[in-house]
Amino acid sequence: MNFPSTINSKLPTVGTTIFTTMSALAKEHNAINLSQGFPDFNPHPVLVAEIEKAMRSNFNQYAPMAGYLPLRQKLAEKIEKLYSCAVDPETEITITAGGTQAIFTAIVSVIRENDEVILFAPAYDSYAPAIELAGGKALFCDLEAPEYKINWQNVKKLVSQRTKMIIINTPHNPTGTVMNAFDMAQLDKITRGTDIVIISDEVYEHIIFDGIEHQSVLRFPKLAERSFVINSFGKTYHTTGWKVGYCIAPKNLTTEFRKVHQFNVFSVNSIAQVAFNEILKLPDLYLELSAFYQQKRDYFQRAIQSSRFKLFNCEGTYFQLASYHKISDERDLEFVKRMTRDMGVAAIPISVFYRNNTDNSVIRFCFAKEEETLKRAAELICKI
Ligand code: GLN
Repeated sequence: MNFPSTINSKLPTVGTTIFTTMSALAKEHNAINLSQGFPDFNPHPVLVAEIEKAMRSNFNQYAPMAGYLPLRQKLAEKIEKLYSCAVDPETEITITAGGTQAIFTAIVSVIRENDEVILFAPAYDSYAPAIELAGGKALFCDLEAPEYKINWQNVKKLVSQRTKMIIINTPHNPTGTVMNAFDMAQLDKITRGTDIVIISDEVYEHIIFDGIEHQSVLRFPKLAERSFVINSFGKTYHTTGWKVGYCIAPKNLTTEFRKVHQFNVFSVNSIAQVAFNEILKLPDLYLELSAFYQQKRDYFQRAIQSSRFKLFNCEGTYFQLASYHKISDERDLEFVKRMTRDMGVAAIPISVFYRNNTDNSVIRFCFAKEEETLKRAAELICKI
């Protein structure tokens, strides 16, 4: 094949995502996979039963473009209850094929040539490529190890007439930090009186520890009116492979969102939507999720306490950061590859989430695993 002779790549510096790379390497070397974030246990049996029921009850054709309405209504009730925020299920909620698609669609629907978007690094790896494909420019505000707190003075310096969007993520992947009420007040101050749109990636909203309250932008009317809030059923119901999420945004933003959504996804897996509508009738499942994962966090932290890794604070998400500076001076990507190959445990290097691959010798472990898996992994980690 010799046509086209060269392809002028739209993403010349982008390779295969680290999650795919590390999961493949883990499989190749039969290593315990604490890299890509997904549980190794099954979803609730009621959810599985509801899928089967939906398949047998004629829910096998296209769902409505914006999503199965009873599910959107149920989500609106939940949002009202949790965040005292009134959301119209008809015009302000769209069901998506996962959080990443929702983020991509939100970016493409508002970002134009030369618009600037402020990101916090380490930043989830899908944000910047989506911005670049839309013709925009990603500006990175670095969060510094080991606290990874937002320095709002630095954010202010990045804001200009060209700033079209700010993307926040709380609880934050990969650092496990959460934004507090002070952070939200700063965000409000910076965006007040501007046309800046916010994407608030809140897919770990129910995985937050030590009694900390999740500060959704939906709690703050002035922020909510300019925000796309991104969420994911995969994280809450142990179903990352089902690829179902949703986007909450005011009507004018949702209208633009759906113009894009209808032509790249059209509508999302129908039976999963019917099943999630049923499982939402059991609020304990999401209300007890933080306690469930806090136990796993604590177990994992204790199990690797005696290792040579230095553990960072983890306030939310199912990720634990650790520094290996006492173990090796290799680059983090080399270190996790060697760990996977030679020591049988896979993790994610943090440098890939920085624009200039800032390397602080920090890696991420996923603890969304059975205790038995965490135990075996910890034994190996303690030998490193
Ligand atoms: N969100 C998951 C993580 O951070 C990965 C999702 C993916 O593989 N694209 O590990």
